[in-house]
Formats: sequence, structure tokens, C-alpha cells
Amino acid sequence: MPPPMGASTEEDAVVVVAADAIATSAPDAGDPDSQGRKDRRRRKKRRPRAPTEEEVAARRFVLRWACPGREAASDDEQAAQAGRARVRRPRVAVELHAHSARSDGSLSPAELVERAHRNGVKVFALTDHDTMAGVPEAMEAAKRDPIRIIPGVEISAVHSPSDESGSEDPVHILAYYGTWGPARPQELERFLAGIREGRYARANEMLLKLRSLNMPMKLEDVCKIAGNGVAPGRLHVARAMVDAGYVENLRQAFSRYLYDGGPAYATGSEPTGESVVQLVCQTGGVAVLAHPWALKNPAAVIKNLKAAGLHGIEVYRSDGKVSGLSDLADTYELLKLGGSDFHGRDDKEEPDVGSVDLPVLAVFKFLEIAKPIWHNAIKEIFASISERTTDLNGSNGFRRISSAGDFCILRLSSKDSELTDASEVEVLRAELADIGLTPQ
Ligand SMILES: [Zn+2]
Ligand SMILES: [Zn+2]
Repeated sequence: MPPPMGASTEEDAVVVVAADAIATSAPDAGDPDSQGRKDRRRRKKRRPRAPTEEEVAARRFVLRWACPGREAASDDEQAAQAGRARVRRPRVAVELHAHSARSDGSLSPAELVERAHRNGVKVFALTDHDTMAGVPEAMEAAKRDPIRIIPGVEISAVHSPSDESGSEDPVHILAYYGTWGPARPQELERFLAGIREGRYARANEMLLKLRSLNMPMKLEDVCKIAGNGVAPGRLHVARAMVDAGYVENLRQAFSRYLYDGGPAYATGSEPTGESVVQLVCQTGGVAVLAHPWALKNPAAVIKNLKAAGLHGIEVYRSDGKVSGLSDLADTYELLKLGGSDFHGRDDKEEPDVGSVDLPVLAVFKFLEIAKPIWHNAIKEIFASISERTTDLNGSNGFRRISSAGDFCILRLSSKDSELTDASEVEVLRAELADIGLTPQ
């Protein structure tokens, strides 16, 4: 049951903070009237607001989903017993955007999950660039802690305007899958592998441009920085520039040379944003546009991607809600989400894992859209398993070979059914009843 639109929500509180920040930066100091307005706003910001029924219910729903079987919801119950006023800000810490060393982050997937858990995160999506290779490790690490992993990936794409007026905009699409992973994992894996191969060509092109700017470097050095089997990206080129002494730090490498459209920037052979959104939809994922504030023309990109099936856009950051994008999300009836985009950079200003204050109602609406999609994906995965099992004619084994499919095996072989939804387990039992399945 969707909460009524326009109800007093957590979102309103965030808007107040944002409005206050804008008002504080306005050059109206000394004007007694505006000072009075500011004081009223500050009072409004400080006043604890009783949570709405929808928020309390949404928080309970999200916590139960995040930590089923473990009484992680107990703090919720305790607060409820102590009176609702104790639950001043009914929220569940959620991280929907973070990178591990499997792409361009610095922490291993397990270290990232541990850090998220330390920061109180209950739902964590690993969203490495163009790979899901870190997901099995993240899920394994999460078995120790009451934290729910959403298998994710951030897919590189490009938006080409249909008219010839503008230049290409790099677009990143976040894909969120259910616990059982994508339906048709091989298809997704092939697509991602194509993008990763393109990244080597792109790194090479950036190095050619840097060479023409008197900053020669070798591709093998950049690949060494990226690590074994990791497709090189801009960050790895930037690190190589720091190592070679061409710039003082990563920030300088980006602000002078590697920024979008910069003198050493190169686009890869990325697919269109529309084709990525369609692929995510076809493989049972939720498609969300990452950091639309970085786009030259967010309205045009969002309109096109919505037509392709986009489910949501990032609107929340660690510094609050971006109101212009929130309006666009309303216009196109899209989910409003967000995450820290944590990479573990050597940068004190980088927002930490779990630092984005995503309203619990936003998480609730996300799950409302995601669960039926993930459910259909599970059905498709089981259908493909039963087909394979029938093909093997009596043999009761099956194998799904691809890094995106690995965690399907992991889930199926897991005895820890409490980590899955009761409904998911039910589907599993029903669908596997006729299949003599031996987990591997
Ligand atoms: Zn991105
Ligand atoms: Zn990212």
C-alpha cells in the first residue's frame, strides 16, 4: 500500500535543511526580516517531528526485509515500547552505491561490507563498474553480519543527443538485482565483458593524449595499478599520473586533464543509455540513473531513459536532496534514490559508506517496485535450471558458468535460508519440488 503523496514525510525534513542551506548562503545578512525568517527555519529544522504512521510501518518493513530471522528490528520494537517520540527519525541506514577493488575502489568487497556494517548500514548494494565479480565475496562476508546485500553493478553508457546540438554525455546506469542475481546472467556477463574490453582501448587513448601533452606513461603501468583482471579506468590513469609526478594529487589529475571533455579525456565504446536500461529490465533488475547532477542535460537524458524503462534516478547525496532533480523524478514518476558512491579514495572529503540520509519511505518505494521484478527473475532462473536438468536426462546436477551467475550457485548451495525472503524460499520449494537438484 503506497503512502499517500504529499504526506508529511522524511523528505520534507530534508527539503527544509536544503532550503536553509540556500537561505544561509544568500547575501541577505543584516536584513532583520530575513534574519527572522532564518531563525524560524532553524527552529523548524531543530524541532523533532513525530514520525508518520507510514514511516514507522515502512521502517519496520525495510528492517524485516533487511534482516529476516534476526531480531535486528528489536531496536525498532524497543523504541516503539518506549513511546513513538523516541523514534525521532525513523530511518534505516542504506547504501545503494559503492565500489570495491573489483573495479576502481580501494577496499575488497569483504572489507567494504565490514565498513558498511560498522557504519550501521542494514542494506548494502555493491555497484562496481561493469562487473559483478565482487558480489559473491560481499554475500559471503554478509553472512556474519545482519546486513542485506543487493547484487548490483554500475554500467557505463553514453547519451547521444538525437539532434546535433549537443555533445555526448557519459551516463552511468545502476542495476539492482535480487538475492538470486540476474535472470540470464550469461547475457548480462557478455554485455559487461564487452564494455570492460572497451575500457582498455579507452585507457590507451587517454595515454596517447597525455603523451601529446608531454606526459608519457605505459599502459602496463596503468593496468598494474588497476590490479589483476580489473579493467583500467580514469582513476587508474590518474593514479599513474600522480606516481609519475605529473600532478600533485588525484584531484589535480581530474580537474586539469581527465574531467569529462578534458584535454586527456576519452570516451570508450560504451553502449547507449537506452540499451543498458533495456538490458537491465530484461535481466530482472531495477535500473537507476547514477549522479544525474553530473550531466550536461539531465532533463533530456532522463526523458529518453524513462521511455526505455528507467525506474529511478539518484537524487540524494551526502549533502542532502538535489531539489531540481527531485522535481524531474516527480515529472517522470521515477524513484528517488541515492548513495555515497564510495571508492575509498585517499580523500578526507569523500562521503563515507552509509552517509547518505535516504528517507525510509524512499527505500520502501524502491522495494515495492523491486520485489515483483526480482520475483519474476527468480522464476526465470528456476525455469532455466529445470530446462537444463531435463536436458541432462536423469542427471541431477546443473552448472551455471559466468561470474554473474556464480552467486546463483552460492545461493542455491546455501543452507542459510533465513537470509532469503520467506516468499522467495517458498517459490524455491515449489519450483524445485519436481527437480532432483543437488546443490554444488
Ligand atoms: Zn558513476
Ligand atoms: Zn559509482
